Amino acid sequence: MSNLFSNNVSNVEISGIRKFFNKVSKVEGAISLTLGQPDFPVPKNIKKAMINAINENKTEYTANAGIVELRNEISNFLRSMDINYLADEITVTVGGSEALLCIFGAFLNAGDKVLVPTPAYPAYESCVKIFGAEVVNYNLNKDFSINFDSIIKLIDDENPKLLVMSHPSNPTGAILSRIERDKLFEILKERNIYIISDEMYSALCYEEYYSLAQIDELRNRIILVGGFSKMFSMTGLRVGYVCASKHITDNILKVHQYNVSCATSISQWGALEGLISCRDDVSNMKVEFEKRKEYVYKRLRQMGMDTTLPRGAFYIFPSIEKFSMTSEEFCTRLLNEGLVAVVPGSAFGTGGEGFIRISYSYSSEVLKEGLDRMEKWIAML
Ligand code: PLP
Repeated sequence: MSNLFSNNVSNVEISGIRKFFNKVSKVEGAISLTLGQPDFPVPKNIKKAMINAINENKTEYTANAGIVELRNEISNFLRSMDINYLADEITVTVGGSEALLCIFGAFLNAGDKVLVPTPAYPAYESCVKIFGAEVVNYNLNKDFSINFDSIIKLIDDENPKLLVMSHPSNPTGAILSRIERDKLFEILKERNIYIISDEMYSALCYEEYYSLAQIDELRNRIILVGGFSKMFSMTGLRVGYVCASKHITDNILKVHQYNVSCATSISQWGALEGLISCRDDVSNMKVEFEKRKEYVYKRLRQMGMDTTLPRGAFYIFPSIEKFSMTSEEFCTRLLNEGLVAVVPGSAFGTGGEGFIRISYSYSSEVLKEGLDRMEKWIAML
């Protein structure tokens, strides 16, 4: 018999974020700053809409692409950011995670190449490998902005099928500026490549929002990923979406259909209500995250950590190079000796080595305690 398990799957590792989170419960008294799970409850109106949906028996399969009411509302929401997709160019998925898997499933043949930034959200690399395709990493600048020369060279030399971009970024907090967006357009307009733009944190951008999907000339080659896990603090309810022109959507839908049939009906009704009436809840959360960002940044600088100010999402990615330890070693010792869990940068690819990721989606009290412990531990080194 050949190998029992797919060679592609055997080559994929369990996410380093979860690996570290799972260690926390084994260390008595430790606290976690590892997960991207906002500490806010789901907005009240979303809860009510889901309870109503159950009572009204809206519990059947929905259209594969999702309920049209939600797709229309997503279309309106995106329009407020100058991004134009019609309802039939939108597929509602089981979180952004399923959106990513469906996109890669729709596009990739064994041996195809995909440009993926490093550091980046680990799912890109793992999904590409699951389909037997090859990841080609592109490096970022020291402040985690895009290194255009690296992208140009890799597109021209490696002939990749897809380019993955992700702003605001998990784990770095980098966003796309207008200048960067326009420069990327100049690079991409004359090159034959499709672009996955993961904009899961679009609602949590602390400066003006720019996206490649705003450029009409590129829209037929952009596949936009979004979702409500972070926006409405509803990670467990699993609603995301993918937008792309119709011929791409038709292929993504095939994978989505045989994968899950449709996203959960109840959660879709909840997300719809969120878009209709919970924008204030989102603004309030954002104000709170911004305060936490400033606080965590200030504390890390006071500890002498070399840290770039995040401009979106709820992660900060300080350098630990000066401690002469690998990120895995640093985080293991910080957990066992300092009783705080953060994620080793290496969980986000080779470009993440030399960094740690701290999530500031935790409450101010937990953040203060975590940073106090970290400061004390660093002082002892
Ligand atoms: N994309 C990015 C950049 C993320 O950080 C995450 C989750 O952390 C996802 C996609 C997946 O989100 P979801 O929970 O909606 O599956």
